[in-house]
Amino acid sequence: MKTEKYESGAKVSMYCSACEDDTEHTVGTVTKLGKISSAVCDNCQTASTFKGGVKTGVTAGKGKVPELYDRKKRYRKGQAMMHNIFGHGEVTAVFEAQKIDVLFGETTRRLIHDQE
Ligand SMILES: [Zn+2]
Repeated sequence: MKTEKYESGAKVSMYCSACEDDTEHTVGTVTKLGKISSAVCDNCQTASTFKGGVKTGVTAGKGKVPELYDRKKRYRKGQAMMHNIFGHGEVTAVFEAQKIDVLFGETTRRLIHDQE
């Protein structure tokens, strides 16, 4: 199996939660093994950081403002939201019992969703 190696400044297509689509990203930093540790969306400048292939941080760009968090809404993994206290967040996991993990900056918080 081929393992992709990236370098800083490279262009890579990946999912952007703010754009809600696969967009071109510019690779910011890479690990010694050539894995992406940070990348910025070319469309909206939302910056994401990664550790071991898992997203560990997200910084909102200026291009897009996600919708306000609404507990009645059903969220899916990768979706972005704006929280009135925590700010820009991205859903990193969806659980049973109407719970989601959302990454705000570098802090993951558990919120509820899909409530009646
Ligand atoms: Zn974007």
